[in-house]
Amino acid sequence: MVTRVTVLGATGSIGASTFDLLRVSGEQYEVAAVAAGRDAKGLAAIAREFNARLAVIADGERYAELKALLAGTGIETASGSEGLLAAAEAETDVVVAGITGAAGLEPTFAALRSGRRIALANKECLVSAGSAFMRRASEVGATILPLDSEHNAVFQALSAGPRESVERVTLTASGGPFRTLPREKLAFVTPEEALRHPTWSMGAKITIDSATLMNKGLELIEAHHLFGIAPGRLDVLVHPQSVIHALVTYKDGAVIAGLSVPDMRIPVAHCLGWPARLDWDPPRLDLALLGSLTFEEPDTARFPALELARAALAAGGAAPTILNAANEVAVAAFLSRRIGFAGIPVIVERTLERAAAEGLAEPTTVNEAVAVDHIGRKVASDLLLEFAAKAS
Ligand code: MG
Repeated sequence: MVTRVTVLGATGSIGASTFDLLRVSGEQYEVAAVAAGRDAKGLAAIAREFNARLAVIADGERYAELKALLAGTGIETASGSEGLLAAAEAETDVVVAGITGAAGLEPTFAALRSGRRIALANKECLVSAGSAFMRRASEVGATILPLDSEHNAVFQALSAGPRESVERVTLTASGGPFRTLPREKLAFVTPEEALRHPTWSMGAKITIDSATLMNKGLELIEAHHLFGIAPGRLDVLVHPQSVIHALVTYKDGAVIAGLSVPDMRIPVAHCLGWPARLDWDPPRLDLALLGSLTFEEPDTARFPALELARAALAAGGAAPTILNAANEVAVAAFLSRRIGFAGIPVIVERTLERAAAEGLAEPTTVNEAVAVDHIGRKVASDLLLEFAAKAS
């Protein structure tokens, strides 16, 4: 039987991993819809290669280009947020949800349908609207398969025992490119240095989040919602080689770890093949060649973002949604050189403080999550302007 696959975020790094696998898995899969943000050329190439039914570009200004590139192919085209929703809703079996940021919220919610598998890479559905997303998925009967490498490893390790026997869930972190950099030097790192991730090849936003450790903080929130694990049972362990992705400790003392070479195609393959196993030629883990795996505690003095995320998870309400919105604004400001690296957690912390005064409730729908997200962005943007005014 042929499995139909829709890819939201088709031209990003998750999309690239997915299509790499579809290329070698031949007849088993067929591509339904593909959607991308701005890269009309890349999207058109993918749509043609896999003979997609529908290709959607989020940026309306690139629509004419996409349409011209796909003229005569019979591939339907659309654009804008309505187009993204159409791509999410188009008939399919698996949706790879790889849109980065809050832009992925509405399409990923729209992708939730009875009997579907959602290979979830978009973190924001879980961080900004975790309870609402998981509730909606269970109401409609959609299966959420985590694509994030750590959560994918947890998902697999959790099949070793009943949920009530889980004592701890540990997510590993590479520590990013500045793991050993002294605090006084952290303030002066450039976007180029922050974008040089030691083990994983990913998009810009998540690579900066890995450098600040905010990524691991967001992942704690993700894990809480995905698996219903209490915040106090979630740990982070720095493991620079990124070979062990997560560990689940059971009450009887057994620890089940998920290992692989750090290659996103491996969790993607798990999601595409599930509940079976995809048979392809993956990069093999050679532990003898590696020789040793090392571990250390995260340094929250140098990387305060991790604790900010923990505090937001503990505070509940709208705090995780605000945290995520403020972080997106702060990372964009760092990438465009408006603030320094150390300014990222400062913006996030001040935004949380300011927004807390508004006493916002936890979003119960995607629309509420989007509304709270907008408030968080506005507060963070105002803070950036105030900082710039003070500095000049
Ligand atoms: Mg991850």
